[in-house]
Amino acid sequence: MLSTLRRIVQEVSVAPDLEAALDIIVRRVRTALEADACSAYLTHLEDGPQRLVLRAGQGVNPEAIGKVSVGFGEGLVGLVAQRAEPLNLERATSHPRYLQTITYGDEQFDAFLGVPIIHQSRVLGVLVVAQHEGRRFDEDVVTFLVTLAAQLAASIMQAVVGEDAFQVQHGQAGSAGIVKGLSGALGVGIGECVVAYSPEALDDVPQRRGMGVEAERRRLRQAMDATRDELKALSEEMRSMLPDEERALFDVYVMMLDGDSLWADADRVLERGHWAPYALRESIRAHVRQFQEMDDPYLAERADDIRDLGRRILMKLTAEDDGPREYPERTVLAGHQISAAQIAEVPTERLAGIVSMRGSGSSHVAILARALGVPTVMGASDLPLARLEGKELVVDGYLGWVFVQPDDDIKAEFVRLAAEERELSDQLQALKDLTTETTDGVRISLMANTGLQTEISPALIEVSDGLGLYRTEMPFQVRDRFPGEEEQLGIYRRPLAAFAPMPCVLRTLDIGGDKMLSYFPFEEDNPFLGWRGIRVTLDHPEIFLTQVRAMLRANEGLGNLSILLPMVTRLEELQQSMALIQRAHREILDEGLDTPLPPVGVMIETPAAVYQIEAIAKRVDFISVGTNDLTQYMLAVDRNNERVARIYDSLHPAVIASLVQIKRGAERHGKSVSICGEFAGDPLGALLLLGMGIDSLSMSAGSLLRIRWVVRSFSYAHAREVLERALGMEDGRSVRQMLVDELERAGIGGLIRAGK
Ligand code: PEP
Ligand code: MG
Repeated sequence: MLSTLRRIVQEVSVAPDLEAALDIIVRRVRTALEADACSAYLTHLEDGPQRLVLRAGQGVNPEAIGKVSVGFGEGLVGLVAQRAEPLNLERATSHPRYLQTITYGDEQFDAFLGVPIIHQSRVLGVLVVAQHEGRRFDEDVVTFLVTLAAQLAASIMQAVVGEDAFQVQHGQAGSAGIVKGLSGALGVGIGECVVAYSPEALDDVPQRRGMGVEAERRRLRQAMDATRDELKALSEEMRSMLPDEERALFDVYVMMLDGDSLWADADRVLERGHWAPYALRESIRAHVRQFQEMDDPYLAERADDIRDLGRRILMKLTAEDDGPREYPERTVLAGHQISAAQIAEVPTERLAGIVSMRGSGSSHVAILARALGVPTVMGASDLPLARLEGKELVVDGYLGWVFVQPDDDIKAEFVRLAAEERELSDQLQALKDLTTETTDGVRISLMANTGLQTEISPALIEVSDGLGLYRTEMPFQVRDRFPGEEEQLGIYRRPLAAFAPMPCVLRTLDIGGDKMLSYFPFEEDNPFLGWRGIRVTLDHPEIFLTQVRAMLRANEGLGNLSILLPMVTRLEELQQSMALIQRAHREILDEGLDTPLPPVGVMIETPAAVYQIEAIAKRVDFISVGTNDLTQYMLAVDRNNERVARIYDSLHPAVIASLVQIKRGAERHGKSVSICGEFAGDPLGALLLLGMGIDSLSMSAGSLLRIRWVVRSFSYAHAREVLERALGMEDGRSVRQMLVDELERAGIGGLIRAGK
């Protein structure tokens, strides 16, 4: 059963559209279960009264497909959808809810098994198998169908969204495809979709025009030849290590590359004017399908090998493809898991929006997008990526929604919202020269978070009180090797010089988790609990020392550097880091440079650090709280996982209580506390932090004036009272509602929603 299940899921995942996907499902299921009939019902995506339409069937009356529909709760199919659980009946016809429809024509079906297709707690449809003879489908069949429906739900959802967009494009009925994800960066963006793909994801390769049939043929031929040569060489190298039968796989690959079949299928696509990567994708898909359809399980498994071969060729194709590409004037970058490097490839002035199927609002890519001020939707897992290249998309970064091929009304609404945003932005600009001070005269310093050189502008320096967090991993991420000491010296000198004499906090390299370096790859089962931040750099003192030396040298003659250590969970890490920093400093003095030992601080990002706040505070010069990670570790919610993003909440009472504890602990040792996680730049968070008496808030450039507005709208006394109320609450939702009400009452609700 497991291999049948896998085969169906794989086939559906490469189906070109919804109709084909449903057709595969009903055909395959009927055969696998030896049932007389199998049918699939789907709902529409729009809100309102739900109806289930018969969309595909095998062994059913073909006239009924597309015509028969039932409401939720109506008939047996509607009952399955309403209850959201399977229904297994031996004598369906005697069930009180049995409904006579034309589904099966004149035929009589007794046994009925229906299972709901549920995606993200929403019923998308119902899968039904039926049998003439009274037969109770046994437990295995029920669990098979339930498992299949659960596994297929995401693919079906994607296909449904794709179909809606297609219908709008062709002037047929149906609303624009709306894909619901999570807010990544606020704002509204409208533009043309460019699909970003990585060579590992062959199925994401978009359809694009080529540079001419002959040129694309040449490219593909070269890539295939290079792959063949590489595989031959690999097979030779393995001769002494692998038995002949294991090496036979390489020979099969080589034979396929030498043979006509792969090439012929690709060539047909090339002739239609498409580019080589797309032709390769189509040819590989066709071959995968052929293998999957084979009954011999061994041959069916070979489909995976064909995919692997496809990825290898694609890798070669994209390696050659290193020239800069032309991006549309208003580009919306969409992809499975958008990376910092992919964002960096698009000229900022052309980047109108970002949509990532993976990740959440707390992912580092979302933080980068906020720094760039590009409206972003994360976790849009239902995005029909294969159909999006060149299509118009609207990105609503407030709600986390994406509209595919929006109609004129939707577009007009977003153009209006964008205009309102510009108005808000003008109002914010008026705060530029004012102080960040409460109505009763308490000042708080507002610092900037960055890691991008391009972001450091005179305007940023003018509105901030310093650089509160420089994420040094960003310049590391956009390179293709570790930068050396001289190169790093140049990188760090720029922010230090630009902000002097204001303070500049440079954080030591914080890689791991969702921040990887292409030239230093490693894989872990639980990357956020693994080799991250200080753990990596203490295991590689050469990387740490080079970095610290570059920072100290960059500080020469300026004296505004502070060093911040990420992901500390044990005092030993702090002590070791201090010893290395002191050693680097001594070396630099010995080399004749005159530069002071800078203040050193620790990031509080884990419950372990919260509970040891006093032990840490007495050993360092300052404390900076990384609420992004603190929330993730406190609540045991992966900040990068869209499935649990809805329960990632920095307003959870446990997080608020830990922040209060940090502030008190640091205060006892006379140390200042800064907050540099995204919470500081959230108007709701800022109000609470103000009440805690936090010394400084550090945030993305785009949030600075918004938070100044919040601070200027309240008195410190009132903020303290708001905090007291929050501390008496037992769930994050109540805290949020109370803070939203406070902001609305103060007349600044426009800071947290679209529109004025
Ligand atoms: C944090 O965790 O809050 C933080 C500021 O660090 P980063 O987001 O880079 O992990
Ligand atoms: Mg962090």
